[in-house]
Amino acid sequence: MLRLWRKIRRAGRVAEPAPPPPADEQPAVAAGLGGSVQFRHLDAGSCNGCEVEIASAFGPVYDAERYGARLVASPRHADALLVTGPVTRNMAEPLRRTYEAVPAPKLVVAVGDCARDCGVFAGAYGVAGAVRDVVPVDLEITGCPPRPEAIVEAVRVLTGR
Ligand code: SF4
Repeated sequence: MLRLWRKIRRAGRVAEPAPPPPADEQPAVAAGLGGSVQFRHLDAGSCNGCEVEIASAFGPVYDAERYGARLVASPRHADALLVTGPVTRNMAEPLRRTYEAVPAPKLVVAVGDCARDCGVFAGAYGVAGAVRDVVPVDLEITGCPPRPEAIVEAVRVLTGR
């Protein structure tokens, strides 16, 4: 145990240096959250590429939590949804229900090109549409997949930090 503790101490801080705060204006709903935003992630039909980048964004290197963003396990504990993938027919209703389960005021972030406009899956028989076709979207993150830096920048727009 002591050896592990010494190793942790030797490793020190591994997070990337904090970039300057994003220039984008914080949405009015987010401003009322006091700099702390809890996110529930929902995969509406992603290939899992966006999930890998979200995991990186909230991991020790990019460390989105230092800006007041946190992933939570239930939409009832969340202020915002991070939605990935095109919305498949099977996931349209679960997305609607998850959105309804988030207490107001609530925000939705569409993560990745598929969430924005169905991306490479546009026109596929199992795709119901983009995220904005099913629930209101407040912020969109471009990229296939988006880089962790872009995800961190977007969550910082919401936390205002
Ligand atoms: S945007 Fe790219 S990485 Fe993300 S779900 Fe779509 S295909 Fe996969």
